[in-house]
Amino acid sequence: MTTSPPETAPAIGPDAAFRQHLEAGRFMLQHCADCGTWVFQPRILCPACGSARLEWQSASGRGRVHSRAVLKQRPEKGGDHAVVLVDLAEGVRMMSRLPDTAPEAIAIGLPVRARILTQESGPVVVFDPDPEPEA
Ligand SMILES: [Zn+2]
Repeated sequence: MTTSPPETAPAIGPDAAFRQHLEAGRFMLQHCADCGTWVFQPRILCPACGSARLEWQSASGRGRVHSRAVLKQRPEKGGDHAVVLVDLAEGVRMMSRLPDTAPEAIAIGLPVRARILTQESGPVVVFDPDPEPEA
């Protein structure tokens, strides 16, 4: 960062705040206090109305697979795995993966549930098939 934030900005940026929540075991999304839009990726201003009143709220963790792309990998590197776009119940889209699910078992529209996976590089949000999807 080479520019100093305006005085009204939070002490840490929205990406860092998102990560801090994950490190504390919380999957949080920003929610606009003015227009009610859910926001992801983390931002300073609401993309819908421009408000700076973005508040962190717990994500439901529920979603559905919007699309998937299978990346071919040699077995010794872990085998094929899928990168997915998940439409969260809040209406935002997130790129992620289903680390414990075979790529061929990941169907478009599959209901999924989020969990936080801690990797060497830090915590990330991943998904598993949802055993009890909402109707
Ligand atoms: Zn807004």
